Amino acid sequence: MTKERFDKPFTQQEAIPDDGIAAAVEILRGGRLHRYNTLPGETSEVSLLEAEYAAYQGSKYCLATTSGGQAMQIALRAAGVKPGTKVLANAYTLAPVPGAIFATGGVPVLVEIDEDWHTDTADLRAKAQASGAKYFMLSHMRGHIADMEAICAICDEFGITLIEDCAHTMGAKWKGTRSGNFGKVACFSTQTYKHLNSGEGGFLTTDDPELAARAVVGSGSYMLYGSHGAIPGEDVFQKVRLDSPNCSARLDMLRAAILRAQLPNLDKNVARWNERYVALAEGLSGAPGIRVAERAKHEEYVGSSFQFQALGMAGNVPALVAACAARGVDIKWFGADTPQAFTSRYDSWKYLGDLPELPRTKAVLSTTCDIRVPLTFTVEDCSQIARIIRDEATLLYTTMAAE
Ligand SMILES: *Cc1c(COP(=O)(O)O)cnc(C)c1O
Repeated sequence: MTKERFDKPFTQQEAIPDDGIAAAVEILRGGRLHRYNTLPGETSEVSLLEAEYAAYQGSKYCLATTSGGQAMQIALRAAGVKPGTKVLANAYTLAPVPGAIFATGGVPVLVEIDEDWHTDTADLRAKAQASGAKYFMLSHMRGHIADMEAICAICDEFGITLIEDCAHTMGAKWKGTRSGNFGKVACFSTQTYKHLNSGEGGFLTTDDPELAARAVVGSGSYMLYGSHGAIPGEDVFQKVRLDSPNCSARLDMLRAAILRAQLPNLDKNVARWNERYVALAEGLSGAPGIRVAERAKHEEYVGSSFQFQALGMAGNVPALVAACAARGVDIKWFGADTPQAFTSRYDSWKYLGDLPELPRTKAVLSTTCDIRVPLTFTVEDCSQIARIIRDEATLLYTTMAAE
């Protein structure tokens, strides 16, 4: 019997909506691609996007940037991080997070995660106390939102400024509050593999007027910030406008136009991602050697990626990955000693110098498997992917048990 194979690429996104394409073509025809290159009476697409995203997010201020990583750097600087400032950060995240902290001169203080990929709040408290750090860059990695009440309580107790990395939680909520509205400032990415797709791009949102003004000037607004779409008053800019370095991270009209066309579909797409996520979770539930995390009822997640623990396959995860790859199922393993594709473990960020051992994080990542869930997959595709993984896990698990 030939084994069933999955044959769609895991990297394929949906088309940009037609009205986005039309708007982009219109901009190309006019040649005005820079956000400040507007005719009298014309409002920049970027400013319109900022106002629309602020309204979606429920935040007062919003800045569009060239990437999520740039949004993080700008947020850290605007929040007061300077060379030598300690910044707490959960150790399970993507490389742009430590990269952004490093670029501002900040010194990451890495915090352990728990078995469901959340920040380990006991370790956060211990590290906050021991390090005296006054900033926490919380990455909601792979969309797993930690206990935000506990985290906010720790931040209050130690006077820590919370910065949220919402690259995987755009559109998600925790106990009814939108991810990104817990901290002082939040960062989002609109890079191709995230929840809105402009190739590269990002947002910063905040309710803090001075932070917003510093961020806008820091993004490279020159003294043209007045045309932005979701900013505080001129009085606030007068106070801070000469204090921020211009870091040239402005979003352009073309990308703003294609994002504006996608934003109205975001919530509908969240529901579509979650149907696919549920098909994967149900298909893998109870599979031998595999643990699928229960999602808390109050976590309104976005299932744009799916994680499981190959707990019963410790030491043999690469064999599972290879067997699934041979059948067209692309699983990423977060436990590899050397960085692969998008994944990297904290101990490969060598530029950070000597880092403490994080045994719990290492143990969790040693069995962490991850798959992308692009919307070009149907729900049935996701059931098939789960069937193939289950099949290979059963085989491997039985072989291991027999040895
Ligand atoms: C993608 C990503 C970022 C940064 O996004 P870019 O737009 O690619 O710079 C930050 N954090 C996490 C967890 C991400 O996955």
